[in-house]
Amino acid sequence: MEQLILPFVGLDVKYIRGCMYNSNGRECTRYGEFKLWESFYRSSSGFNGYFCYCIDCHNKDNLKRKKERAYSEEVIEAWENLENKYSYGDIGPDGRIFHRYSKHRSMKNNFEVWLSVEQFQKLEDKKEFHRKQIEAIKDKRKRGEVNSEGMYFYGYVPSRPSFGYELWLTKDDFSRRLFNDGMAKYLYVSLDCHGGKDERRSEIIGLSEGELYDYIESQFVDGMSWDNRSEWHVDHILPLSAVDNLEDTKHLWYFENLRPMWGPENISKSNKHCPKQLEEYLTKRRAAK
Ligand SMILES: [Zn+2]
Repeated sequence: MEQLILPFVGLDVKYIRGCMYNSNGRECTRYGEFKLWESFYRSSSGFNGYFCYCIDCHNKDNLKRKKERAYSEEVIEAWENLENKYSYGDIGPDGRIFHRYSKHRSMKNNFEVWLSVEQFQKLEDKKEFHRKQIEAIKDKRKRGEVNSEGMYFYGYVPSRPSFGYELWLTKDDFSRRLFNDGMAKYLYVSLDCHGGKDERRSEIIGLSEGELYDYIESQFVDGMSWDNRSEWHVDHILPLSAVDNLEDTKHLWYFENLRPMWGPENISKSNKHCPKQLEEYLTKRRAAK
């Protein structure tokens, strides 16, 4: 955004905490440049209804913070080794309620986000409100419906109240989302029978959501496509039924053990596998951990 710096401020100059201001604008507290009021973001708590530093400085700060976060290896490492001690709704020793882990929060505080009882209640009320709104309209549209712009209806989501909660995606995004949600459910169910999940999906699979989608696509054999998704399933080369604990189940979810295979999910292939091959695979995966 172009910003005007006034060469001549005028005569009606006053001061607020050492910074000049008048009816036209004020000095930005960051670098002391005089700028028009429209060069500042509005802030209900700020002087004259604006922030004390200009939009330029605001954006520079945000960018700097983003860069620092993006490039700090220390933070990335701490985030990756984060122990998921708390889950949503846990009550802390000080009576505050656990919300989530956020990479943007302080590393010293273990990236934890805690809310007061009132904040938490507000959030829950909001969720409940959106849930009810969606409940009332949820039969209006069917997943996969295509509109006149060629967009595919995925579902109703609480994050989009101003769009009638409707989530429309391009054909490509639709099949990605469908695939990823399906895999998440499948992964969760298979880990849950061995005591639940305590690790992020991307860590278990070794690929991000998008990468897994591309990887599976790269393994397509004759005629497979996202358009005939119902005719093939994601198969575990070494079957999940071959192991009986959480750790090994996770190893079998590593992407190298996944491939697309013709045939619907419920007709499971023979669970025969070579014990030697399994042992070799698990030894390799354990060593890689
Ligand atoms: Zn500034």
